[in-house]
Amino acid sequence: MDYRLPTTVVPSRYELRLVPDLDAATFAGEETVTVTIREPVTEIVLNAAELAIQAVSIRDAAGTVVPGTATLDEAQERARLLFPSALAPGEWRLTLAFTGTLNDRLHGFYRSTYKDSAGVTHTIAATQFEATDARRAFPCWDEPAGKAVFAVTLVVPAGLAAVSNTAVVSDEPAEGGRRAVRFADSIKMSTYLVAFIVGELEATAPVMVGSTPLRVWCVPGKAHLTRFALDCGVFTLDFFEKYYGIPYPGDKVDLLAIPDFAAGAMENLGAITFRETALLVDETAASHSELERVADVVAHELAHMWFGDLVTMVWWNGIWLNEAFATFMEMLAVDAWKPEWERWVNFGVSRSAAMGVDGLLSTRPIEFEVRAPRDCEAMFDLLTYEKGAGVLRMLEQSIGPAVFRSGVQRYLEEHRYGNAETTDLWKALGKASGLPIPEIMDAWIFRPGYPLVSVEVDGAGVKLSQRRFTYLGAEGSPDERWRIPIALRASVKGGWVDKRLFLGEAETRVELPAAPEWVLANTGGHGFFRVGYALPMLKKLARSVAKVSPIDRFNVASDAFALSQAGFLPAVEYLELTGRFREERDRNVWTVLTGSFGFVNRVLPESARPGLEAFVRHRVGLAAERLGWDREAGESELVRQLRGDLLRVLGTLGNEEETQAQARAMWARYVEDESGLDPNVLPAVIAILAFTGGEREYADFLQRFRTARNPQEEQRYLYALGAFREPELIRQTLERTLNGEVRSQDAPFLIRSMLGSVYARGLAWEFVKEHWEAMARQYPGSAYRRLYEGVTALVSPEWERDVREFFERNKITLGGKTLEQYLEQLRVAVRFQERESTALAAYLARPPR
Ligand SMILES: [Zn+2]
Repeated sequence: MDYRLPTTVVPSRYELRLVPDLDAATFAGEETVTVTIREPVTEIVLNAAELAIQAVSIRDAAGTVVPGTATLDEAQERARLLFPSALAPGEWRLTLAFTGTLNDRLHGFYRSTYKDSAGVTHTIAATQFEATDARRAFPCWDEPAGKAVFAVTLVVPAGLAAVSNTAVVSDEPAEGGRRAVRFADSIKMSTYLVAFIVGELEATAPVMVGSTPLRVWCVPGKAHLTRFALDCGVFTLDFFEKYYGIPYPGDKVDLLAIPDFAAGAMENLGAITFRETALLVDETAASHSELERVADVVAHELAHMWFGDLVTMVWWNGIWLNEAFATFMEMLAVDAWKPEWERWVNFGVSRSAAMGVDGLLSTRPIEFEVRAPRDCEAMFDLLTYEKGAGVLRMLEQSIGPAVFRSGVQRYLEEHRYGNAETTDLWKALGKASGLPIPEIMDAWIFRPGYPLVSVEVDGAGVKLSQRRFTYLGAEGSPDERWRIPIALRASVKGGWVDKRLFLGEAETRVELPAAPEWVLANTGGHGFFRVGYALPMLKKLARSVAKVSPIDRFNVASDAFALSQAGFLPAVEYLELTGRFREERDRNVWTVLTGSFGFVNRVLPESARPGLEAFVRHRVGLAAERLGWDREAGESELVRQLRGDLLRVLGTLGNEEETQAQARAMWARYVEDESGLDPNVLPAVIAILAFTGGEREYADFLQRFRTARNPQEEQRYLYALGAFREPELIRQTLERTLNGEVRSQDAPFLIRSMLGSVYARGLAWEFVKEHWEAMARQYPGSAYRRLYEGVTALVSPEWERDVREFFERNKITLGGKTLEQYLEQLRVAVRFQERESTALAAYLARPPR
């Protein structure tokens, strides 16, 4: 099947008039598309889905009108327009009238609802077009290279706001007491970036960033939650104008919070849509993580205004660069805005998560051929965003930030208002750096996986070697190599020796003044690879771990855990090693450690759990005790977040009674007076209360979920409902994922988290098996796919068999290699269990030391 539209007819301008009826959940539309016909045709083929086309005609420059007819091919999502005689080459104006439905699937032109404080339901019409859903709103050449100018008019009821990509140029009375809101011509852009939002929404007063007005939109009553996003937007928009050296390409920026939204946010030029949690936040009541999430997403979407919107990939195989680059820029901008957040250290957590997927045999190259556009839906994953951004960061640090930036500027200059391929960026960076960038990047981009760099002391020096890292055993050929930028730091005779080199061959030797005590091979942590130290050196390194930077400590722990999961390092040795981190003060390092304890918890038999609890108390207790429960003056946000993280682990995974009692006391105080509890500690208190609580706490949290005052609060109580241990309460929460109480945008993620809980996973899995068809119907596709990630926590040979049978029996398509990856991650965990659980149980039965 040919997935690309014929190029004999090319659009250059859409004049689009849409009349949505929010009550009836329908819309009517009319469009006139200026097209260039390149050779005589009797047929025009373009995309349309779930639309009815009522009228077709085309007019040439002389004004001659030729009527046509339309046939729809729903399977191919195309409309064929047939004309009685051949249309001559030249410029024509194609006019179509059509109707469609405002659907509930959160794609195309869709309906979102919310209840106001009086319990009255209101409706918003919004759009989500990426990748291929603009065709559900209007017939179009729905391919990223089909760039055109859009002139939109929305005809809406008098009291409703209407927003599209550009500024309003006129707002006039129209038929039936409505208003016709006409928007300025857009820049030349792709169909997937077009947006319309209609509803009772309110905007903040515009803030000028240079000559661009910036506003935040939300449903009435939430304007007090917009300040933080506005501040972040103002800073980052200005940051990007300077970084890219090109003014913002649109005429205004609106950031809109939509109550029902499948993804995190969408970079529609000038009308960026968000799920509420990613935009609206009460700064005084939010934890560091919750604020960071808003900053990340706002910066990410604004970065796209240039990289993605101004310059766009030719086809969907290039989506990775679009997303990887925006993720990279998001870090850069947030790091500039809030240096105290140490955003690049925290990026280690994301990089490591991407390595978790990319270490599978069923991984994929970042860039690969995408034929059917639908296949690109599965590309919105960790490999695209986090591996992609990680590889860009590695390149930026290896050629230097200034050189990297000038290459990016050159690329944007050369391709503005157009489309480009990945190689165009490498060429621009190559010119800027004078280095063979395509050759350096090839293996990282076009080959699956990443290397394991092994380090061994070899006389007065070290031997470095590379091979592909996989969890389930090497499969690659020995000549599978990467050009790896190595930043070596060696401890030699009490001092440090630093060396930089490219490891391109299978093995190399690095001379040092004397035999090193230990070395780091990825100093600064920017490399997208794992480092394997021989056990004696790893032990020495762990003893000196306090002397190296947080990101290096992070990588020592993270690499050791990954090597343990892959069977290169006995799990008991890994747990021993974590004893060197009891004094750790960095939040990200703790994320690795506590994450690994959670993994062990899912793997162990129930009988070994008390041993693990005691072990967790020993490892975490000291650091938690030092931080206490109350914030201290002058403390950084990261320290406050760490306090919450550690208390949560101690009170749940560590099952520590004193912490649990204290959490209950803190809660009692909070109910009386909210101001006394730090917003970073509150989520821990809620999690501990769910862990230890029963019906009374459940009823309380359910009520608080229903009446939440901001999106973060809603999320906390929602996830808490899945964190109870009593089967009856777990069942109640599962029921709520399908009966409409939990929004379909959130339900799949709640189920995923319950599959990850050792107390809920059995019941949750039975529930999924029973109701998967209803879930497939109700949940938005992108979120539904993620739900199944939860099966990776069903760690036992019996469950693994059951999971495999389930997917064999039922026709569930998750797109790309997603399912294979989930099954392999489960295999990795079960194999770890088979290999390690006896030794682990024996180790954990002894008092921890
Ligand atoms: Zn993005």
